[in-house]
Amino acid sequence: MPTTPPISPFLDKPVDPEDADYIVFGAPLDRTASNRRGTRFGPDAIRRESAYLDTYSQRTGLDWGDLRLADIGDVECGDVESCLAGIEDVIKSTDKVPVMLGGEHLITLGALRAIKPDLVIVYDAHLDLRDELFGERMSHATYLRRGYDELGYKAIILGARALSGDEVELTAGNDDLSYFTSLDIIKGREDPIKTVNEAIESASRVYLSIDMDVLDPAYAPAVGNPHPEGLSTTKLMDLIAGTMSRKIAGFDLNEVCPHYDTGNTATTAAYIVMETLYAQIRSR
Ligand code: MN
Ligand code: MN
Repeated sequence: MPTTPPISPFLDKPVDPEDADYIVFGAPLDRTASNRRGTRFGPDAIRRESAYLDTYSQRTGLDWGDLRLADIGDVECGDVESCLAGIEDVIKSTDKVPVMLGGEHLITLGALRAIKPDLVIVYDAHLDLRDELFGERMSHATYLRRGYDELGYKAIILGARALSGDEVELTAGNDDLSYFTSLDIIKGREDPIKTVNEAIESASRVYLSIDMDVLDPAYAPAVGNPHPEGLSTTKLMDLIAGTMSRKIAGFDLNEVCPHYDTGNTATTAAYIVMETLYAQIRSR
């Protein structure tokens, strides 16, 4: 596989890729950030903190021994196009479920090109449906739009609260692109679990993408573009667990910018990835 080996593998798993159900890899792309730089340090920060997690899951009753995953290291992400091509190669060359650690959110476009889902579930403060940002059409703020134009899919974004006028206009007249704001979720005004599960029911291949800025900055301060009034970690995990399915053919967690705190955000990111894995194992 076209990756460099990890310094310390996610959750210290020595599993051989052949025996694994999940392939973990890093995509340290850090080229188009609009605010803070540093997401290229995300994958290794998440791995490092994952080594200290207590692995028994209160939510599922599963533990470290129930996880069959192999961390195959990082895709070379020096420039955008070779990084996206590398991600596509890695995912296409495995029959395991890919789990990608970012890196900026643009990496998800590489996974979407490889998996070609008909439904994309996204947790994000932003819609990332802009046509361009600062003149750049390939950006962490445009990846979902580029993917939509290229591949076509239904996308549901949960936890949104930092919207642009253009994005509101684009989604208003479009049955394929919808979102739940963080306030609608927190205040219980809408039931995203029911809507998402219905969408999964009628989909055949689903992709899940978690931008860490969906969490309130109180829970995840070290992200590229923090925005107030976000979800709690508990709310996020309730939503992910409540909409888990074996149709989810891959997932990623992105936008951890670790130098903006002392490890809390990377620890929470490692926990979310671990619990998401457990949730899917339980759903089988
Ligand atoms: Mn994003
Ligand atoms: Mn975001």
